[in-house]
Amino acid sequence: MELIYLDNNATTKLDEEVLAAMLPYFTDYYGNPSSFFNIFGQEAEKAVQNAKTCLADCFHTSSVNDFIFTSGATESNNLALMGVIKGSIKTHPHIIVSSIEHASVLNVCKQLENQGVLCTYLPVEPNGIINASSVENAITQDTVLISVMSANNEIGTIQPIDAIAQIAHKRGILFHTDATQYLSYKLIDISKIPIDLFTASAHKIHGPKGIGVLYANANARRLLQPQLFGGGHQNNLRSGTLNVPGIIGLAKAVEILGRDQEKDNQRIATLRNTLLQMIKEHHQIFVNGDMIHRLPNNLNFYFPNISSNYLAEHLSNVAFSKGSACLSENNGVSHVLESLGLCSQEIESSVRFGLSKYNTLEEIIYISSRIRRMLDG
Ligand code: PMP
Repeated sequence: MELIYLDNNATTKLDEEVLAAMLPYFTDYYGNPSSFFNIFGQEAEKAVQNAKTCLADCFHTSSVNDFIFTSGATESNNLALMGVIKGSIKTHPHIIVSSIEHASVLNVCKQLENQGVLCTYLPVEPNGIINASSVENAITQDTVLISVMSANNEIGTIQPIDAIAQIAHKRGILFHTDATQYLSYKLIDISKIPIDLFTASAHKIHGPKGIGVLYANANARRLLQPQLFGGGHQNNLRSGTLNVPGIIGLAKAVEILGRDQEKDNQRIATLRNTLLQMIKEHHQIFVNGDMIHRLPNNLNFYFPNISSNYLAEHLSNVAFSKGSACLSENNGVSHVLESLGLCSQEIESSVRFGLSKYNTLEEIIYISSRIRRMLDG
């Protein structure tokens, strides 16, 4: 068996349809969309507008100005949190986040705390899901932003963002969600949920690396201040020459999700559940995080008394992760698994398998038989 890729919560393979859509914008239509004086610039600008229209259609919003292109989810999260706080008129603005956010939210909060901002980090239940009423209880008269991820990158748990968005909306507080992982499962429907800002990144949805977007509605843009200064691109909110091939790739990846994700989700969930079942029949396995409110592609688990390194040695041709790919902080210990109340040995034994539409039943059967052989010693 050749190499098997099961690290799709870290990054995904570029879809060939996405590559085909992007290529002409490297080779033929390479103009700068800000150079509208010449035909090359006009072609590039037209393509960017088409990409925005595609995103607006897929996310059910009428305004193409709601999309601010960035270099990825890290930048989008920075812009959302820093940008809203900078625009706030409160003396001591307050932010509410969950304790299991990605580092690109939590480390922004740390920076903001140094600037006098108050941050509340809400714990999650042992199943890795935040209780929406705890968000309501944490609101103060200084709360300007609530930011809770739609789905977690390590354990795949899906958060009740609909309920949280409603709470924020009722109280007149902006709601941001980091939808980086969630979009592979479901596209956000802005016409149904009162979300003011959301973050996305193309490389998690079979698009290219280095391109992301921050959705920010007119309400959010009234406060949002830029974090990058320069030529005043994108209505002064994010200066820098637009990454045209990346933008085309992002829009194409989102369009494909809108077309295929329902059927892909079912197939991926079946593969994931088959793997779990085959292992379970043979050996005790502990899954981290809720199994129902969970991304269909995610399986984060541990075998008691078997380290993740031992598993990696026995599955040397399978690419998977220990926790998340972004654990350079906290001595490589997952803050997400800690929040679930796992002890250090359970954390040390935990691994993350992330499936995609490119995985096959043959691969799943192969992996489960390798695991069984390892467990039989
Ligand atoms: N948020 C979440 C939930 C993520 O999973 C990631 C990537 N691991 C990021 C933000 C950062 O994404 P990017 O690599 O696009 O900066």
